[in-house]
Amino acid sequence: MIRSFLLCFVLCAAIGVGSVATGTRQKSDSGRGVTLLIAGDVSQEVVDRVKEHLSKRLFLPVHVKKAQIPVDTSATDSALLLENLRTPGDLCSVCLAGHHLMWPAVTVVTKHRVGIVGVGILKPSTGKDREDRHALRVQKEATRACCLSLGLRECPFPRCVLLNALNDEDLDAKGSTPCPPCQKKYYEMLEDYGVKPVFR
Ligand SMILES: [Zn+2]
Repeated sequence: MIRSFLLCFVLCAAIGVGSVATGTRQKSDSGRGVTLLIAGDVSQEVVDRVKEHLSKRLFLPVHVKKAQIPVDTSATDSALLLENLRTPGDLCSVCLAGHHLMWPAVTVVTKHRVGIVGVGILKPSTGKDREDRHALRVQKEATRACCLSLGLRECPFPRCVLLNALNDEDLDAKGSTPCPPCQKKYYEMLEDYGVKPVFR
């Protein structure tokens, strides 16, 4: 009798602990992350690479959506439109803009927490590996756009993804993740947003 009571007690305690653990996990992974908006002609491979990179290196869920931006709209004027397309609860919008060849590589409107990457302008003109190099450039600049839109500043360290590379050589040479001091600021910033990073 006592043994079965004890067994019952242990089982109930285990179920109780289990539900608390599940609750904690759901709380830390709130689902709030980045809305990745795709406007115009952007290859699926580039989209997949950027999505995977943002979720693995910035530790946030990424929600991919299609977006339409009128051709004659400037990057800055598009920010409000892109903010409105954000998945509810997400921290920022990053747009990969395929059609707008004349847009700058990165435009960030912090007021709306929107970063836009002009995919066309990042295309290398020569080289056998240009598709791969292009995808890597977009990946780096989407990471920078995301961090800047959330409130981080540019960084002078040549290997940091937050470097504002002024030419293709510097862009190809820089890394695709934040340097350690920027990473630390990034974690602090997520804490300010009330979001815990999701490590995979
Ligand atoms: Zn840095």
